Amino acid sequence: MTDQLTAVDRATARRFVDEHIAPHAGAWDRAGRVPDEVLARIAESGLWAPFLPPELGGSATDLVTLGAVHEEFGRACSSVRSLLTVHTMVAWALRRWGTAEQRERWGRELGTGRALGAFCLSEPEAGSDTAAIATTARAERGGWVLDGVKTWITGGQRADLFLVFARGPAATVALLVPRDTPGVRVTPIDDMLGTRASMLARIDFREVRLGPDALLGPAGFASGMLLTGTLDLGRYSVAAGSVGIVQACLDASADHCARRVVGGVPLRDLPLIRAKVSDMVTDARAARLLVAEAGRLKDAGDEATLAATWVAKYFASTAAARHATEAVQIHGAAGCAGDHPVSRYYRDAKVMEIIEGSSEIQRLTIADEAYRRRGA
Ligand SMILES: Cc1cc2nc3c(=O)[nH]c(=O)nc-3n(C[C@H](O)[C@H](O)[C@H](O)COP(=O)(O)OP(=O)(O)OC[C@H]3O[C@@H](n4cnc5c(N)ncnc54)[C@H](O)[C@@H]3O)c2cc1C
Repeated sequence: MTDQLTAVDRATARRFVDEHIAPHAGAWDRAGRVPDEVLARIAESGLWAPFLPPELGGSATDLVTLGAVHEEFGRACSSVRSLLTVHTMVAWALRRWGTAEQRERWGRELGTGRALGAFCLSEPEAGSDTAAIATTARAERGGWVLDGVKTWITGGQRADLFLVFARGPAATVALLVPRDTPGVRVTPIDDMLGTRASMLARIDFREVRLGPDALLGPAGFASGMLLTGTLDLGRYSVAAGSVGIVQACLDASADHCARRVVGGVPLRDLPLIRAKVSDMVTDARAARLLVAEAGRLKDAGDEATLAATWVAKYFASTAAARHATEAVQIHGAAGCAGDHPVSRYYRDAKVMEIIEGSSEIQRLTIADEAYRRRGA
């Protein structure tokens, strides 16, 4: 416990990430997993769910700070940041909608990182269209029987608690499902394009019997809010992580440009290269400000944060994909090597445009919001 953080903020997260995450991210990417001892070290440092209150193992950080922490992780390793994102979504939903008994059972476990959470919404036939989920939750003898398949579940290979969305008797319900419940089967999904160490899985639920205490939030009413609120926080984390990718591309490119000489001229002096670097600087700053604005609105309890988060995620993730492409370009063949950090950023950045609401879905939603504001 030598590096226990007393308070979680950007600076402490940066020190932790630079010492324990960044030097190993490439090796984890190649191995397709983050070692258990690293997950434990994140727990020791209070970084799994720092927004929880101290009695649940957190340090009551605000959400602006959480965004900064997730940016720092995203700068070093999008796989670890992805694990933090889904864990955050589960821990936050539990704090927001959990009963006293549910918080008692799982709050401290999640807050201290002794138990890891995973978010189970997507199915083989339902991704962007969340209304199409086919997993069912049958009410039976005061409890629930869960049947269905969830896929692309980040951290699914490793998580202890699944937050599962299913069709209930009247509306979508959210259920807390411990991994060791009979009828739960976890099948690893390896060899993804990006975030390769985030330990994805397909989860089969077959006649999974749960008690009444599995239901998170009141049936019916809360499921929409719960889903919206939880996805919003995940999207915020991905936006912050995408800012980290842009920053990483900028750092790597600036370093490379200072070293590399072509045709007797340092790369850094070539106008076309300078233009790429200056665009990275500009977009990193703009994306960081958008994420901070969304975070401030969350901390203020202002529902305008939903639209602000869509914009932040859309801007930051597309900027990450664009600048990761340019970072590879600036590095030339060296950047095409599988183990070069910029080739990892390139693969990870593509994933950011798909998860937590794809770019297409975000553009539709942002346009809807524009029309709504005009009363059109
Ligand atoms: C690395 C990774 C990790 C993931 N982790 C999780 C996780 O932890 N939990 C979880 O539940 N899910 C997870 N997912 C799944 C992710 O949420 C879905 O991939 C995402 O919602 C998109 O769904 P889909 O892949 O089924 O694409 P589809 O919904 O089939 O969409 C295919 C394409 O069509 C576009 N499209 C869809 N609808 C429209 C429209 N109306 N107009 C225009 N274009 C449209 C999409 O933008 C996309 O480009 C993960 C995915 C990846 C790649």
